[in-house]
Amino acid sequence: MTLPLVPIREGVVYPHTEIVLTFGRPKSNAGVEAAYKSDRKIIFVTQKDNHLQNPLPEDLYSVATLCYIERILPTEGEIHALVKGISRVKIEEIVSTDPFLLARVSELEETIEQENYAKALSNHLASEFKKAVNLGKSVDFMMFMRLMGGVQANELVDQIASSLDAKTEDKQQLLELLSTAQRTKKAIELLSQEMNVLELEKSIATKTQAKFEKQMRDAMLRERKRVIERELGEEMDESSEETVELKEKIRSAKMPPEVRKKAEKELQRLSQMSPSNPEGGYVRTYLDWLISMPWGKVSKSNISLESAAKILDQDHYGLKKVKERILEYLAVMKLKRKNLVSSNKGAQAGETGPTILCFVGPPGVGKTSIGRSIAKSLGRKFVRVSLGGIRDEAEIRGHRRTYVGALPGRIIQGIKNSGTKNPVFMLDEIDKVGADFRGDPSSALLEALDPEQNREFSDHYLEVPFDLSQVMFITTANMLDTIPPALRDRLEIINFAGYTEEEKFHIASRHLWEKQIKSHGLDDRNFKISPEALYFIVRRYTREAGVRELDRSIATVLRKVAKIIASKKKLPHSIKVIDTRTFLGIPKFSTNLAEKKDEVGLVTGLAWTEAGGDILFIEVAIMPGRGNLILTGHLGDVMKESGQAAWSYVRSRWKLLGLKEKFYKDVDVHIHVPEGAVPKDGPSAGITLTTAIVSAITKRPVRKDVALTGEVTLRGRVLEIGGLKEKVIAAHRAGIKTVIIPKENKKDMEEISSKVKNDLHFKFVSHMDEVLDLALRPEKLKPQKAAAGEILPPYQQAIIQA
Ligand code: ADP
Repeated sequence: MTLPLVPIREGVVYPHTEIVLTFGRPKSNAGVEAAYKSDRKIIFVTQKDNHLQNPLPEDLYSVATLCYIERILPTEGEIHALVKGISRVKIEEIVSTDPFLLARVSELEETIEQENYAKALSNHLASEFKKAVNLGKSVDFMMFMRLMGGVQANELVDQIASSLDAKTEDKQQLLELLSTAQRTKKAIELLSQEMNVLELEKSIATKTQAKFEKQMRDAMLRERKRVIERELGEEMDESSEETVELKEKIRSAKMPPEVRKKAEKELQRLSQMSPSNPEGGYVRTYLDWLISMPWGKVSKSNISLESAAKILDQDHYGLKKVKERILEYLAVMKLKRKNLVSSNKGAQAGETGPTILCFVGPPGVGKTSIGRSIAKSLGRKFVRVSLGGIRDEAEIRGHRRTYVGALPGRIIQGIKNSGTKNPVFMLDEIDKVGADFRGDPSSALLEALDPEQNREFSDHYLEVPFDLSQVMFITTANMLDTIPPALRDRLEIINFAGYTEEEKFHIASRHLWEKQIKSHGLDDRNFKISPEALYFIVRRYTREAGVRELDRSIATVLRKVAKIIASKKKLPHSIKVIDTRTFLGIPKFSTNLAEKKDEVGLVTGLAWTEAGGDILFIEVAIMPGRGNLILTGHLGDVMKESGQAAWSYVRSRWKLLGLKEKFYKDVDVHIHVPEGAVPKDGPSAGITLTTAIVSAITKRPVRKDVALTGEVTLRGRVLEIGGLKEKVIAAHRAGIKTVIIPKENKKDMEEISSKVKNDLHFKFVSHMDEVLDLALRPEKLKPQKAAAGEILPPYQQAIIQA
C-alpha cells in the first residue's frame, strides 16, 4: 500500500498506543491533512538525526508505524493530532517527496510466542512496571489501570515501551523487534535501567532530607537566588569592583611569593562567592589581614650608642646600672650586625642576637618607658602586648580560621599595629603566662622569641609564615619564679629594684611634674611646686616601689589647680606643703616608725612582694594553754613551717633564754601577721618570727627602729635570703635605722645606692643569738613593772626564771 509518510524528530509511535502529536513542518502538515482527508491512514517514521529540518529518505529508519488519525486540531501553522498506532510496516520505497512524502510500505507480521518462558517474561515486565510506578515513574493513570487489568503480551510491551524514558535508538530497536518475547526482554532491560535511576534519586532524596534538611534548603535557595541574580544581570557588580581593589592592594603589599599566591587564591575564591554568602565576610577579613601585614616595611634602624645613651638619660632619671646593661646589649647587637653584613649574609639575619632582654621589677619603675626609649633611640616603632593571664596557646599563635570569630594571635596583632617588621616589641608580664588544657602558651612564645625559629613564625590564623627575625623582643616581669624555665633560659635578666625617696623626688621634679603640667595644659604658666611639698607628697601620700601613685597624686594636684584657674580664683604661684594638704586631703601614711615605741612581741620584718619590697609586722601573744602554736594572717605553707621551726628553736634554747625547762607546757603561742587579706609566704621571715616569740616570752622589748630578714635553721643558723635590694629600699622608705640581714647577703650590698647605705646601719649576722642581742633590749621587764605598770599575769611570771 502507498500512504503519506511523516517523519517525527524524536520518540517512536508504537502500535497499540494512542498519542497526541504536534506537527509544524509544512511537509508534515500537508501529509497529515492529506491523510486525514482520505482514509485517515498514515505512516509515522522516526528520523535518525533529530536536527534535520528536511530529512531525505536515507535519513529515516526503515521500520515505521502504520497509524490511524482519530482527530486533528489545526492551530496557527501547527496541527495537533490524536493518532492511534496500528501495526509495524517496512518502508519499501519513497514514491514521491512533494508536496509531502509518499511511501510504499508492506505490513510486518509480529510473532507472539506462547511458551512459558515468554509468558513469564511478560508477567515479569508487568510487575517491574508496577514497581517502577511505585518508585515514582510518571505514567498515564488510565493506561496503567488497563495494563494491570491484563492485556495481550504484544500490547503490554508496546504500551510500556511508549512510556519508557529511553534513548530514541533504543526505542526504535524496540519497534523493529518482531518477536514479542525478544521485545519484552529488551523492554525489561530498559525499564530496569530506568528503575536504577529512580531508586538512586529516591535514596538521595531521603538521605538528603534526613541529613541536611535545613542546610540543603538554604544552599538550594542561595543557589537559586544566585541564578536569578545572574539572569537579571545583577551578579556581584559591587564585589567585582572590590575584587579589583583588593587585587591592587595585594600587588602593592610586597608579600613574599608564597604569601601572594595564597592571597590571590583566596581572592579568587571570594570573587566566585555571591555577596550574600556569609563566608565572603571571613575571606575578606582574612585578606585584609594578609594585606595589612608589614611584609616588606622596615624602619631604618641605626644604632648610635652615643645618641642612645643620650636619649635614655634624657627620658629617665637614675637607673644607672640598667642603662649600662642596655647600652652593652645594643653594642653587641651593633657588632653582630656589622659582622653579618661584612660576611654578606645580609642585615636581616638574626640581628638582635640570641638573647632576649627581660626587665624584672615591681610596677611603675619605668620598665615600659625604658622600652619606649630604646625604640626611640634605635629609630624603630614600639609595640606593647600584655600577656597577663593568658592560658590559651591560641592567644599567642592565633585561632584556626575554621573558628567563628577567629583572629591572629597577639604577636601578629602587635606586628600589624606597629606597621613595620622590625619594631621593638614589648611582651609584658611574661611571668603571668599560665598553661592549661588549651595548650602551653609559653612554648608558642619560645618559638616566637627564638631567633633560630622565628624567621618562619607560623600563626594559625594567618596560615603563612611571617618573619620575626628582625623584631627586637623585650619582655617584662614582676617576678622570676613563675617564668617557665625553658623560657627563662633565653632571657637576659635586668633587675629594676624600685626607687628610694630621694630618687622618687628627682624623678617627680624632673620628669613627672613636667609631663603632667603639659598634659593639664598648664605649660604656659610658669607654675612650680616647692621641693618640700614634693617630698611631702612622696613621703606622706605614697608608699610604693615605683612612681605610679606619685604620678597620680601629682595629676590630682594639677587637676585641682586647673579647676581653680578655670573658676578664676586666686592661685598661689607655687605649691607649698600646706597646699598639698588641701589638694590631696589627709596624708595617707605616717612618716616613719620613729613615732612608735619599743614593744614586746612586735617585730618589724622585711618582705619581698611583686610590688617591690615592703615592711611587715609580726605580732606574738602568749596565753595560758598547753604548748600549742597558732599561726594566723593568711600565711603560706613555707611561712607556717618557719613559724614552727622558730617555736622549736625557742623551746630548745630555754636555758640560754633564761626560761624554765618545761615552760611551754603552760602556754599557747599565737603568731599573727596583720593585713590578713594579703597572702604572705617564704622562709625569709624566720629570724623575725623567732625574735618575736622570744620577745613575747621573755618580755624583752624589741627595738622600734630595727627591721629583720633572714631564714633560720632549727639550730639557729641564719641563711641567705633573696630580694635584698628591694627589702632594704623598703626599710629606708619606712624610716628604719638598723637592718639585720644574713652575713651571706653581704655580696648583694653593692647593688644598693650609697645614699641608702649611708642612711642605714647594716648588721650582718650568721646566728640567731646575734640577732636577739641586736634586736631586743637587754633588760627583761620585771613582772611587776611590765608594760608601764601593768602586772604580768601569773602564767607569765611562772615561765620566767626569777
Ligand atoms: P612599669 O612598666 O615598670 O610598670 P612604667 O614604665 O609604666 O612602669 O612607668 C610609670 C611611669 O613612671 C611612666 O610615666 C614613666 O615615665 C615614669 N618613670 C618611671 N621611672 C622613671 C625614671 N627613672 N625616670 C623618669 N620617669 C620614670
